[in-house]
Amino acid sequence: MDACVNRGAFPKQAMIERISLPERDFSTVSTCNQCSAGDCIDVCPTGAIVRKDDGVVTLDVAKCIGCGLCNMSCPYGGIMSVPTMHKSTKCDMCAHKDTPACVEACPQNTLSVKDTGKIFEQYNGDPYSPGLQFCAGCVMELVARVLLETLGDDVVLFGTPSCCVLSDKVKVPYYGTLMTNIASTASGVSRYFKKTGRETLCLALAGDGATADIGFGAVSAAAERNERMLYVCYDNEAYMNTGIQRSGTTPFGSWTNTTQIGSVDHGKSRAAKDVPVLIAEHGVPYAATATLAYMEDFIEKIQKAKEAAKHGFAYLHVFTPCPTGWKMPTNKAIEITRVAVETNYFPLWEAQNGDFRFTHQVQERAPIDTFIKYMKRFSHMDKEQVEILQGLVDRRYSKVSRLTLNNDPETL
Ligand code: SF4
Ligand code: SF4
Repeated sequence: MDACVNRGAFPKQAMIERISLPERDFSTVSTCNQCSAGDCIDVCPTGAIVRKDDGVVTLDVAKCIGCGLCNMSCPYGGIMSVPTMHKSTKCDMCAHKDTPACVEACPQNTLSVKDTGKIFEQYNGDPYSPGLQFCAGCVMELVARVLLETLGDDVVLFGTPSCCVLSDKVKVPYYGTLMTNIASTASGVSRYFKKTGRETLCLALAGDGATADIGFGAVSAAAERNERMLYVCYDNEAYMNTGIQRSGTTPFGSWTNTTQIGSVDHGKSRAAKDVPVLIAEHGVPYAATATLAYMEDFIEKIQKAKEAAKHGFAYLHVFTPCPTGWKMPTNKAIEITRVAVETNYFPLWEAQNGDFRFTHQVQERAPIDTFIKYMKRFSHMDKEQVEILQGLVDRRYSKVSRLTLNNDPETL
């Protein structure tokens, strides 16, 4: 602050205001953010405030009549009056010097000048726009962000009506399809790219409803034809966007709005469809399950899938907790995901050309109660139902285990 006072524009007056609330043991500075809105520029009746080419907003003291309008317009309290002079003042980053006085004076090098252009560049380099469109605690944005950041920008994204419509959220081309035809639409574009010699990746991103049920025929056909694309299914185990109806991947016993709890019904009576195994069994170049709880595993699989998609069909099945539909705490998505792996509810494996292998194996699987206890969608389940679910989980796991044995030379 002393450096600011001594910079010399007004005697004993800093361009930055200090706010102290001793009774709350709180002290901070309030300064101009050089913000892009620049309301102060618009309200000034004398044109004393202008933005320079480098983005810094400056105040010409000679033109200022001290009306105070800019003080009131600034939402950050970044402009202040100097009553003795009938003028206003604000931080102009010490426009008359190469380096602001506060930066020069800071003994710990804590302060530095950042080029706002570079910050914008950083944002523009992120394929996902800032801002959330999902329910509190939903991990879908993180799934999409990790995917896009790992895949790079030479991507055309295909999506269906769902929670995860990313048309105005991503900076890669987005193709909105129907739930029935996302795989066939991506196939058509992929074939055109092949014909014209373009390497651009066709990325289909769809939920379990489009993948396991409504568009399953098209997904299976694209896998069987070995179309060049990466298909990612984010599995939140029901049709969440339309009001939580059961899907093919809704687990046994789970409540949804179409598998109600009552004297007759006790949640879903059928087992979930094992979609990733079904797709892998098409013998596609690459298929895998993935989670956000095991991030390195996820990223490695995205990279492998990207490589495989240059030559044929690659598939990732991503476990995606839905706080709204699963009736779970909004801060537990990653914890639940980890427990899903530890209980073998969602085992992590990959299959290359139909050869399976686990990418993470738990030493001693935890009982399924440790997974279902987090979610109210399972809270009605009695002992018998829990045992059935446990049996289904164990059976599914041992089926994948048997598939991995095919890779063991001793069993061939
Ligand atoms: S106080 Fe000065 S700089 Fe602020 S609006 Fe009035 S004339 Fe413009
Ligand atoms: S309904 Fe579920 S999946 Fe959809 S945005 Fe909300 S939390 Fe995410």
